[in-house]
Amino acid sequence: MSHAGSKPAGRQSVFQTLTCPLCREYMCPPITLCQAGHNICSRCRSGTEKCPSCERPLLDTRNVALETIARNLVYPCRFSPAGCRGKFRMDDVGKHHAQCPHRSYDCPLRELEGCKWTGRFGEIREHVETRHSTAVMAASQEQEATWELSNPECFHNSHHVLFACAEVFVLYKRFDISHRKLCLSVHRCGESPGPFRYSLRLDKNGGRQSVVLSDAAHGQAENVEQVFLSGECIKVDFDMLMAFVKGTRLLRIMATSECASCGHNV
Ligand SMILES: [Zn+2]
Ligand SMILES: [Zn+2]
Ligand SMILES: [Zn+2]
Ligand SMILES: [Zn+2]
Repeated sequence: MSHAGSKPAGRQSVFQTLTCPLCREYMCPPITLCQAGHNICSRCRSGTEKCPSCERPLLDTRNVALETIARNLVYPCRFSPAGCRGKFRMDDVGKHHAQCPHRSYDCPLRELEGCKWTGRFGEIREHVETRHSTAVMAASQEQEATWELSNPECFHNSHHVLFACAEVFVLYKRFDISHRKLCLSVHRCGESPGPFRYSLRLDKNGGRQSVVLSDAAHGQAENVEQVFLSGECIKVDFDMLMAFVKGTRLLRIMATSECASCGHNV
């Protein structure tokens, strides 16, 4: 039984306690602790060694009491302040948040540039173009978008916001000096990785010779450092890059019907 409008203060703080400090989703078991007793969700735990609340080391100790509470609660949608009335069991609330018509989005550069903006999906482009104009990599078509990376740009670490296929993506570009590789990872803004792939095409001799490297786009919640470490990204050898130094480099994002979790390099 629920009483619309009445929200006991105790109940409210349980939901706050169950919100992961890093991804701000409700935490599902296993919920683990830091040395000082702060909680973190399992998804964020795998991508970091320090507590996001106090920076102390994270332990493998589980907060069993909180896990039991989590299993027995019915969760209000996180976007209830925006008008959503939905209530869900622990296993379904995350899925709902990804699709909630009342959902709000963080700025795609929230962590990278410390931007606190939130808004509707349709407002992201205007925000990014006004406030982060230097990060925008422009040029797009409906189902496919291409960008030309200039030669000097390849050798700098940077991030870019890309608008393609009616979605918003962040491209992380890293020059790994010790392994002599250019690393690229594309993350879709939103919860699920979705059926999107990205590719890098290197051309030389006026396009008569080319190399195409491709991978599945990641979800926003996936830790980019972890992605670069795991190698689930595009990595181009410095020597290969140099062989194509006079040609064009095209980065392409495409919507695909193929499952992002089973398809790997093309
Ligand atoms: Zn989390
Ligand atoms: Zn802590
Ligand atoms: Zn909702
Ligand atoms: Zn912003």
